[in-house]
Amino acid sequence: MQDANQIVAEVLCMLQDTVAPGISTFELDKMAEELCLSRNSIPAFKGYHGFPSSLCVSINEEVVHGIPSRKRKLKKGDILSVDFGVCYKGFYGDSAVTIPVGKIKNETYKLLQATRKSLELAIEQVVIGNRVSDISKAVQQYVESKGYSVVRQFVGHGIGSSLHEGPEIPNYVQGGQSPRLIEGMVIAIEPMVNLGTHKVKVLRDGWTVITADKKPSAHFEHSIAITAGGPLVLSARDKFSGQ
Ligand code: MG
Ligand code: MG
Repeated sequence: MQDANQIVAEVLCMLQDTVAPGISTFELDKMAEELCLSRNSIPAFKGYHGFPSSLCVSINEEVVHGIPSRKRKLKKGDILSVDFGVCYKGFYGDSAVTIPVGKIKNETYKLLQATRKSLELAIEQVVIGNRVSDISKAVQQYVESKGYSVVRQFVGHGIGSSLHEGPEIPNYVQGGQSPRLIEGMVIAIEPMVNLGTHKVKVLRDGWTVITADKKPSAHFEHSIAITAGGPLVLSARDKFSGQ
């Protein structure tokens, strides 16, 4: 699973280095797919429940599941959330990052920083004996303390020989007792954080999720193994010098 996730990490770093005004989301999808295939892995999202592309690209008010398009070119001041997954030797990797396109508004920059930080705080909770709700609480408390909201309709998940496995990892605290984290589990934690309302809707394409108030949204995701030595971030990008 580390090998699968390191391919994802390499692709996300390549995208971070490539994103610039004028480039189309179609070109980014093509580059991600080519790098993935050259590493003998299979793009995990292409064909998943009929999703047409390898990469999910979500711009500004788009939260997740945006479809790459030749017509959609990035503009200075945009933020681009890229979510990528691969299957390598039967195991899955999944990670996401929100990338600024050139200089962005200060309020948007702060949203990105807070979302990234909420993921870091969540990862600290990935220890044997904790519950899923400890992760949810870490994200929700931090995000709401900054005045932002967490998306409720989409959640993180277990990952392994399938892209999406149990348990669900919500970014907000639900009622009742949640599952305990046990050694050997791998989970994908993926806070989706909105500048305004937590409410979202799906566009007519059947995929693209946008914020109900059209304010920007950020998305960061890592796949993390629960080990006796603490959380092991399988999709860490330090090897490729990305953040
Ligand atoms: Mg993902
Ligand atoms: Mg995921």
